[in-house]
Formats: sequence, C-alpha cells, structure tokens
Amino acid sequence: MAVVIEKVEVRGSGSGLTRLVATLSGDRPGELFFEVEDRLARYFRPGRADGFVAALLPESAMHGGDIVSHVPVSESLLFQLNTFLCPVLGSVYGARKIEITAPPAAGNTAAAGAVGTGITCGVDSLYTVARYSCTPFPRHNLTHLCLFNVGSHHIGADDPREMEEFRTDLARRFCAQNGYEFLRIHSNVHDFSPRYARYFSVLNAAAAMSLPGLFSHYYSSSGCAVSEFHLTAVGLAHFETFVLDTLSTPTLKFYSTGSEVSRFEKVRALVAYAPGYGYLNVCNTRRRNCGVCVKCLRTLYALDILGALDRYGEVFDLDRYRGDHSRHLAECWVRKVLARDIFCRDLWPRLRKKYGFPWTRVLQETFRFIRSRLAIYSRSDIRRRLGDHNMGRKG
Ligand SMILES: [Zn+2]
Repeated sequence: MAVVIEKVEVRGSGSGLTRLVATLSGDRPGELFFEVEDRLARYFRPGRADGFVAALLPESAMHGGDIVSHVPVSESLLFQLNTFLCPVLGSVYGARKIEITAPPAAGNTAAAGAVGTGITCGVDSLYTVARYSCTPFPRHNLTHLCLFNVGSHHIGADDPREMEEFRTDLARRFCAQNGYEFLRIHSNVHDFSPRYARYFSVLNAAAAMSLPGLFSHYYSSSGCAVSEFHLTAVGLAHFETFVLDTLSTPTLKFYSTGSEVSRFEKVRALVAYAPGYGYLNVCNTRRRNCGVCVKCLRTLYALDILGALDRYGEVFDLDRYRGDHSRHLAECWVRKVLARDIFCRDLWPRLRKKYGFPWTRVLQETFRFIRSRLAIYSRSDIRRRLGDHNMGRKG
C-alpha cells in the first residue's frame, strides 16, 4: 500500500499562472499541483518532491500507507520524517509507522532569503506580522505575506471561491499599504488531504516548500499555546513546534509563532498595532466578521476588556455587540462552564471584574445553550463528551 510520486514537472498555463505538478500513481493516482504567478515560477525546483511528500504525509500516516517518490527528496527531510515524525504520527493515529522512500537529494537548494508567513488577517496571523516585521535580526524580518489555498477556504459557511476572493483582496490591500510582497499559491491539495483542520500546519508548510528557491524562513502562526503541548489525533497544531522542526531543512526553517503567549496577550499586542485596525478578520463562518460566532465573540470580549473596541469599528458591528451586551457576557460564562472553551476560561474573570455577573441573562443563556446542543448531539454523545472531560481528555 503506497502512494507513488512518479514525476514532478513545471507547466505554464499561458494565462499568467504556472504549476508545479506531481504525477501520482499507486493508492492515489492523479495530479497534485501548486500554482503561482509566472514571475514566481523560477523559484520552483522540479528536481525535488519535498512539498509533495509533505502534502501527502498526514493522510498517508493516518491510513498507514507508505510514500514512494521517484523524484529526489532533501536528505535531511527524508531523515527527519522517517526517524521522528512518521513514528509519532503512527502512534497518534493508531496506524502502522509508514516509510518514505526516495533518492536523497544531494546538496541544498539556494534560497532567495525571503521570510514569509500566512496572512488571513486573523488574530494569530496579524500577531505574527506585528511581532516579526522589525526584529533586531534582519534576516528574520518578514518580507512576504502569503495566502495559500490548501483547504482553509473550504471550512466556512460561505462559498469557498467567494471566501478566497474576499481574503485575497484583504491580504493584497494590507500588503500594498504596509510594504510587504504579497504571494498567493493555489493548490488542489484538499482533494488528496481533505481534513484541513486536523493538519493545516503541514499543508501550509507544504505550500511554502513548493518554492524552495524563495523562502529561507517561514513563520506558522499557531493558535495553540506551547504550555498546552500534547500529542493528539485531533490536530497536529497541538504539537506544531515538533512537526515543523521535522519539516525544516538547512535552507528552509519553519517556526511556530505565537505559541509563547495566550490569545488575550496577542489581542493586547494587536491593540498597539495600528496597521491592523481596519483589517482584523477573525470569522471562520462568514467573509466579514459576523459578530456572533464564537471566534468573533472571543475577540470582541478581549477588545472590550482592553477598552479598545472603538478602534475596530470598521471591522465589527459595535452597536450590535453593545446593544446585546449582557447576553454576550452571559454567553461567555456559559461557554466557559458548559462548552469548556479555554479562551472563555481565560477571558471570563476579566469580563466579570469589569462588568460584574449578569445573573438574569445567565439562566436564559444556559437554557438556550443546552437546547442548541440537544439539537446537534444525541444524549449519549453529550454523556460521552462529559465523560471524556471527566477523564481529563481534550476534545
Ligand atoms: Zn463570526
């Protein structure tokens, strides 16, 4: 059982875009590609399959299928994946440890020294941009902000294509206004690796690895605190520093950024970062911040605590939030207690200190929450989830 990378080639489309295409056979026959504007195609290295191996790795590890590449793979990557990452993924997924075999690529590719990160304009990515643009270490300062279409646009409620267009426009404007180079990679990797939420760090790294001639450093904005580091099949993000270390090569180093601080501390840093005020976009379900989903509310709570709501009037409907303030406060308590939301656990004591306990609304919101959960989960599901919680497992 194996997926086989037969060959890798560069193909121009004649319409301003160029693809790096891997022809696959074995378990998953087909073509897997990364696509960039023509001007970036010179940074492709079709003599290496590093990015394709990374893109195929999580699903292969999950199903215990090997990866065989007839195209060379960087020796350090082959060594690290086979020695460290594959055994760990095998045990995490409860599958056999897979093997990656390929001719080891001799020597390292020379990179143009670009320093990149993803730019979704969410809290994590804006924090990375704010924090790593003007460090005292010039070769580590961000030069390129990227939007990789490797599956993230497929998890919201809006149409993936519209979601991508909206995010591209936002990122492009942010880059133009703040002096970064904007770079976009389109890929069909979600056809081969569809569970984006479970291994997005690897898919984004794979996209960066498709341009080995360009990047020397790449920051992956982490949403998980390193203090919560643990191995789990739920999401590789929970042990991202380890995963990214095994994907790094002598010429392309990945860093997991933002894991050293809490989400609240990130928002505090953003409040002092004026370029982000008109761009903050945290909603996963809608293109514009809906203001009522859990991701929007977590951010609004933090801005509220910090007394910084008015700086974000362009991106949030503040009248709506303030008009329903006591209900939103009660929701935070309910999410902390009943949904075991770790962000609300962090935010609630600060909200309570500022506004007190919204007694009347808490009861109402508790019933509303339980009703909404009963509509989604069966009673046995809920009992199981509570059981998991009591055993100290993370859901
Ligand atoms: Zn929202």
